[in-house]
Amino acid sequence: MQLNKKTVEDIEVRGKKVLVRCDFNVPLKGGVITDENRLVGAMPTIKYLVENGAKVILCSHLGKPKGEPKPELSLAPVAKRLSEMLGKEVVFAKDDNVVGENAKKAVEAMKDGEIVLLENTRYRKEETKNVETFSKELASLADVFVNDAFGTAHRAHCSTVGVTEFIDTSVCGYLIQKELKFLGNAVENPQRPFVAILGGAKVSDKLGVINNLLDKVDTLIIGGGMAYTFLKSLGHEIGNSLLEQDKMEYAKEMMKKAEDKGVKLLLPIDITYAKQFGENETPIISEGRDIPSDHEGLDIGPKTRQLFASAIGEAKTVVWNGPMGVFEFANFAKGTHAIAKTMSESNATTIIGGGDSAAAVNQLGFGDKMTHISTGGGASLEFLEGKELPGIAALNDK
Ligand code: AMP
Repeated sequence: MQLNKKTVEDIEVRGKKVLVRCDFNVPLKGGVITDENRLVGAMPTIKYLVENGAKVILCSHLGKPKGEPKPELSLAPVAKRLSEMLGKEVVFAKDDNVVGENAKKAVEAMKDGEIVLLENTRYRKEETKNVETFSKELASLADVFVNDAFGTAHRAHCSTVGVTEFIDTSVCGYLIQKELKFLGNAVENPQRPFVAILGGAKVSDKLGVINNLLDKVDTLIIGGGMAYTFLKSLGHEIGNSLLEQDKMEYAKEMMKKAEDKGVKLLLPIDITYAKQFGENETPIISEGRDIPSDHEGLDIGPKTRQLFASAIGEAKTVVWNGPMGVFEFANFAKGTHAIAKTMSESNATTIIGGGDSAAAVNQLGFGDKMTHISTGGGASLEFLEGKELPGIAALNDK
């Protein structure tokens, strides 16, 4: 695992042109940024570089312009907002080809401590294919490369991997350093007992995660829609609940693996179900693990909440990815809420994988009580699968 990478603090940045790959993939509505968490997350690295006299050249993708300029996906609003947040001008290099005349001139004119933001890297079709031409152009602007975009670290693109082939010094920023420290160490060197909680809709999205975590954890908790495939393969009646028939064999294999390894695998022992999928459906609690054939399981039940909470209570490290039920509906959010609350009250190192669980934890108001909330959905899942992330592997080792 790639935990020991050089950071901005391990290199000389003063007077250097530093290209920083950020994750400025923020939601926009009519040109207005509706959630600026990712901009806030990028601040520590940018501020460090500015304060230490680097010439800071920022770049990022935004949405999916599919290799051509799309004005609604321009990074111009990000430049404006960053300027306000930093109290300092961020020069926007408005080039449809990203590394064009504006970018080159702006970089040429930079003094130490100044900031330039390039246009959306995915305006270039080469970006997501990691084609050398664009990687070289990006590299030609800078002396040093810093990757601080954990959310795209699992993708080998020009601005995450290709560029490192043409710049000698490539290090990580504070955001990636934090992901390595918390998410990376939790999985590789956890304080035990180590409990992982998996939920969400599908087993098929988390095949590798389940398999890898069974090699690492003391207890694996499985809830959410994916639990029904496990319950069905144990012979329970799951009605119309989510089921991946073709993953039942895999579920059995994983239960066998857990048993062989002495890992506790906890599945729901009661279920909150309803007549059908719907926000205003009345929640009904099952006695045990079976529900009536014409009903659908939408959340874990109260006994399961207790069971899962007591496992979390004994843990020293907890990693959670995926909601316990349809948390978007208040009637079926109790399971997800209970996990978030129990984790927030625990003294363990508590880590939330990105994506839906991060959104749920923030939405429920427990965000600031967790040790770490990962900023990458896909990237954090690949980390939990034990895969090497190309955008991290490409950085210089300590
Ligand atoms: P994922 O993207 O795999 O993390 O799945 C998150 C989605 O799974 C959320 O939108 C939840 O509403 C959904 N989900 C969780 N539990 C269930 C369930 N029992 N039935 C249907 N959907 C569920």
